[in-house]
Amino acid sequence: MKIYNDFDFSKISYIRIGHVGKLFVIENIDDLLQVNDLKGKKVLGNCSKILFSKKNYRKNFYKLSGEFLKIEKLNNETVLVGAGVKFSTLMNFMIKENFTGFEELVGIPGTVGGMIKMNAGAFGKNISNNLITLETLDGKKDKSEICFSYRNTDIESVITFAKFSFEKSTKSKIMKKIEKFIKLRKRNQPYKAKTLGSTFKNPSPDQPAWKLIDNVGLRGFCVNDICVSTKHSNFIINRGKGNGKDFLELVSMIKKKVYDEKKIKLELEVEIL
Ligand SMILES: Cc1cc2nc3c(=O)[nH]c(=O)nc-3n(C[C@H](O)[C@H](O)[C@H](O)COP(=O)(O)OP(=O)(O)OC[C@H]3O[C@@H](n4cnc5c(N)ncnc54)[C@H](O)[C@@H]3O)c2cc1C
Repeated sequence: MKIYNDFDFSKISYIRIGHVGKLFVIENIDDLLQVNDLKGKKVLGNCSKILFSKKNYRKNFYKLSGEFLKIEKLNNETVLVGAGVKFSTLMNFMIKENFTGFEELVGIPGTVGGMIKMNAGAFGKNISNNLITLETLDGKKDKSEICFSYRNTDIESVITFAKFSFEKSTKSKIMKKIEKFIKLRKRNQPYKAKTLGSTFKNPSPDQPAWKLIDNVGLRGFCVNDICVSTKHSNFIINRGKGNGKDFLELVSMIKKKVYDEKKIKLELEVEIL
């Protein structure tokens, strides 16, 4: 296990906001069991849905590395994936092995563990669709034992591995689908920006959060370097020197204006720490 006492969390935060503190990098199950005994521990994936809003934490943050970065093809339709694996790495593996099933999710910058915990999805597809079983620190779980809801699950333990089932296709068909979904993402989202993706959950399919934020005139609105994206009003971006305080201020302004004008309470999708 590696322990960094003065780790700069802004380096791993997708929106590039973070404190300096202690980070444990977990290499194997023994490390994980040791960290699990600590008080106030919190597992991090790729930090693409988490905002480090404070300057100091008592929490013991840790990341999965080492054996949790493994991808193993079990047979022609089943793959075992470590929870620390970045989704882009899994996609590259799938392309190499001609596995189809996750093309819609391409471009989501999470780890497999973080994406399962958040039940990440896009274009009508959720990561849970292809899941068979999960391994967690509390033991093995069948998919049917987990409650998956809109960008949420009832998983309380650390996910260590996931088993997925896929179908076989051809490289050219897979690449064609990937290109289609990347094109859609680039058209609708601030691709590669410093952001945490959708800030709020959509209150309903006909009242998406971006539309409500747009309708109250906040597209492009900024609190210092933290701005509502001009490309997608539910994305908040860091123009450079943004911090947690400005992010929270912008979030409460959006919530207040949407409530005052539309009588709708927006719920955060981003996790504030
Ligand atoms: C540009 C951009 C585009 C995005 N597009 C989408 C999209 O289309 N669809 C979508 O659903 N999301 C999207 N997101 C949001 C984000 O990528 C997802 O929510 C993703 O699931 C977060 O994964 P992560 O590894 O970064 O998790 P983190 O942000 O690190 O953590 C999120 C939560 O998961 C928990 N967690 C992490 N790893 C584990 C583990 N091993 N076991 C248990 N819990 C764990 C953390 O403790 C935390 O509570 C986007 C984000 C960005 C920045």
